[in-house]
Amino acid sequence: MPAPLQDAPPPYACVVFDCDSTLSEIEGIDELAGPRVDEIAALTARAMSGELPLEAVYGARLELLKPDRAAVERVAGLYAERALPHAAELVAALRALGKRVAVVSGGLREAVEPFARGLGIAEDEVHAVSARFDASGAYAGFDENSPLARSGGKPPVVERIVAPSRPGRAALIGDGVTDLEAAAAVDRFVAFAGVADRPAVTERASHVVRTPDLAALVFLLFSPDECNRLARDPDHAALIAAAHRSV
Ligand SMILES: [Mg+2]
Repeated sequence: MPAPLQDAPPPYACVVFDCDSTLSEIEGIDELAGPRVDEIAALTARAMSGELPLEAVYGARLELLKPDRAAVERVAGLYAERALPHAAELVAALRALGKRVAVVSGGLREAVEPFARGLGIAEDEVHAVSARFDASGAYAGFDENSPLARSGGKPPVVERIVAPSRPGRAALIGDGVTDLEAAAAVDRFVAFAGVADRPAVTERASHVVRTPDLAALVFLLFSPDECNRLARDPDHAALIAAAHRSV
């Protein structure tokens, strides 16, 4: 048995989210797949459950699909359309209490960044894999040096993000094994299984959320004192009410 993950309660100074199947219901790469969706989705699922290393599927999926710039930008819209309930409200509450909010994603930056920006997350707090396009917008590869395109790549990225927040605390929320790998870099890891329930992740996690609503994270990410402050604030009271309904 692996050692249990460390866990320390809120408050946190920095909260890091995965994107696909966490902030949004979709897996962006699967949405690019068109008629090959079954083949691509099967590869994604095998990578996110730890059956295949991410690098074994990352370039292969993109080579099969060769998504052009317009297709990747459409995924940004789909991320937003299918954002989990209370994604923007949760980010707003975290920001209102002065916390840093970051996204660390193996998705394509050109899709993840506009979505995150729409949720109120600063551009320089979005970490994802850049795609390359030629002058006509045709697919021309991806940033093969990005650690986020391979297994074991999230921990150093998350460590770098949370380092300035320490000795304040940091939390990470995600659904995949690549998120679980980074759990040691933070003080609390929450497995978000509201979209995809992956036993390889949920069996290891100290906290598992199975409600498909990000309001269900509130009591795991905010201290009781912070929840009281939010409940008294007309801008955030609805989130706290939703949190009570979701548990
Ligand atoms: Mg994910």
